[in-house]
Amino acid sequence: MKYWNERISTIEPYTPGEQPQDSNWIKLNTNENPWEPAPSVLESIMNAAAANLNRYPDPNARLFCSAAAQYCKVPESYIFAGNGSDEILAFAFGALFKPPIVFPDVTYSFYPIYAELWSLPYETVPLSDNFVIYPEMLLRPCGGVMLCNPNAPTGIALPRERVLEIVSYHQKQNTVVIVDEAYVEFGAESVVRDTEQYDNLLVVRTLSKSKSIAGLRAGYAVGNPDLIAGLKRIRDMVNSYTMNTVSQLAGAAALLAEEYYAAKTSLLIRTREATRDRLIAGGWQVLPSSSNFLFMSLPGTNGVELYSAFKERRILVRYWDKPKIRNHIRVTIGTPEEMDIFCQTALELAGSNRNAQGA
Ligand code: PMP
Repeated sequence: MKYWNERISTIEPYTPGEQPQDSNWIKLNTNENPWEPAPSVLESIMNAAAANLNRYPDPNARLFCSAAAQYCKVPESYIFAGNGSDEILAFAFGALFKPPIVFPDVTYSFYPIYAELWSLPYETVPLSDNFVIYPEMLLRPCGGVMLCNPNAPTGIALPRERVLEIVSYHQKQNTVVIVDEAYVEFGAESVVRDTEQYDNLLVVRTLSKSKSIAGLRAGYAVGNPDLIAGLKRIRDMVNSYTMNTVSQLAGAAALLAEEYYAAKTSLLIRTREATRDRLIAGGWQVLPSSSNFLFMSLPGTNGVELYSAFKERRILVRYWDKPKIRNHIRVTIGTPEEMDIFCQTALELAGSNRNAQGA
């Protein structure tokens, strides 16, 4: 700490979820995909290993961008590639937002950290009591709007039309709206193709969730070429080679393996809905979800108690000791077998909780 400057001394950094190095955990804490990547992804990793790893990667990851453009049905000039979407969000805050910025009070906990890192004052707007974003509260003059859709950690999505109302209002004021679509493939409506109509809209996406390659670190942003040029400019003030050769090739393969991932995603959605029904029947309160996780609470307990009770049974989930959400846990959807064990444990906990309250 002796050598820390004021910035790193005062900003509280993000705490990533636990990544235990031993097996025999049911790991439902970081919204990873339980399935392995498509066979073509694994093949492309083998080929990449034989490629020119003595050379720097293509700084603009053109092969990856071309696959992302095809996947999103937008021109290639609309794509920016990065080493995961957190990195892209950090660049976007630094390059495209002006003070003050606005986002909902319950959302991805990295946003306030990026704001502080770039010295951007921010204002938050409250969600409804059932954790829904009021889009009209985001219709106010500011220097940038950050919207996560579906929202994290709630899993609740806004329809495309409501997102576009926000984007359209801010286009008239020359203000950028960033939409983080990390979980969109699990059931929400995307605004990715609306980037061609709205030059102030930047959509940020990741391959860590629906494409099963969190370990490779791959993400992209979609927006008007002017926004993309801003992102490249700030990237080249930090590190021109953010996305390595292996991730570029494997990421492109993942984006093109649509059939494989469509089957996995629909299985995950079915598992999510079956899990939710079972938990609700057992006395849990579970928000509707358009993502690969469920946000839930059990009356009479709180997040840290639930987290610890699951951890004792070698199940990892996530909680936040923060206003409005400290009674909840967020649970990633795993395989049907993992969710079966999770549900059995959750129903046991609900039973003992009822007995304790009745006693
Ligand atoms: N946005 C949201 C809402 C997330 O939950 C995450 C994962 N923690 C990310 C972005 C970042 O994903 P990645 O850096 O793995 O692409």
